[in-house]
Amino acid sequence: MAYEKIKDEICDVCHKMWQLGWVAANDGNVSVKLPDGTLMVTPTGISKSFITPEKLVHIDRDGKILEAEEGYRPSSEIKMHLRCYKEREDVGAALHAHPPTATGFAVAHVPLDRYDMIETVATLGSIPITPYGTPSTQEVPDAIAPYLAEHDAVLLENHGALTVGATLIDAYYRMETVELFAKINLTAYMLGGPKEISRENIDKLIELRKYYGITGRHPGYKHYASDK
Ligand SMILES: [Zn+2]
Repeated sequence: MAYEKIKDEICDVCHKMWQLGWVAANDGNVSVKLPDGTLMVTPTGISKSFITPEKLVHIDRDGKILEAEEGYRPSSEIKMHLRCYKEREDVGAALHAHPPTATGFAVAHVPLDRYDMIETVATLGSIPITPYGTPSTQEVPDAIAPYLAEHDAVLLENHGALTVGATLIDAYYRMETVELFAKINLTAYMLGGPKEISRENIDKLIELRKYYGITGRHPGYKHYASDK
């Protein structure tokens, strides 16, 4: 099977997720859209610390296995991943993890929706909490779908976080941003509460998306015409 570079990149991201403490045991999953539209995904039931290229599973857009080593099946959250690609043609990768501080917000039902930190205002805008869904069921994709139109990062109620990107690195960086933003906000809450940026300055930050060539969606910014 080809796609060695993509498989190495998925493994690299999985190892980073584990090292950062975003996943315990077999938590978390990663998928990447290949040039022919099929997907390379992480298998179910394996720690992200032990993922190696040959353990990855190649599936079609309905979740059917095209190629996998014996005993390896796609992630149990594959329906959530499939829905990301179905909803958004511009999505090339999706990543799900339980970064502890961001997940703390999801567990406390506190959305990360303050426009209080410059980087996040420009890159993600608000990070909402999508309604509760039982893992591996159709409830999860149905819960996230309406949010994908305007968001590249969401919290999953009482569960974790999901990010999407044009590339795997985009999706991975967005998860880093979500977790760091959550940590900064938690600190701000302890110091008397975050203070939002003025509307005028928020608009200027969002306009920077064009300057930096940021892809994807943002709740306060009309996406580029090329992003379908
Ligand atoms: Zn999960």
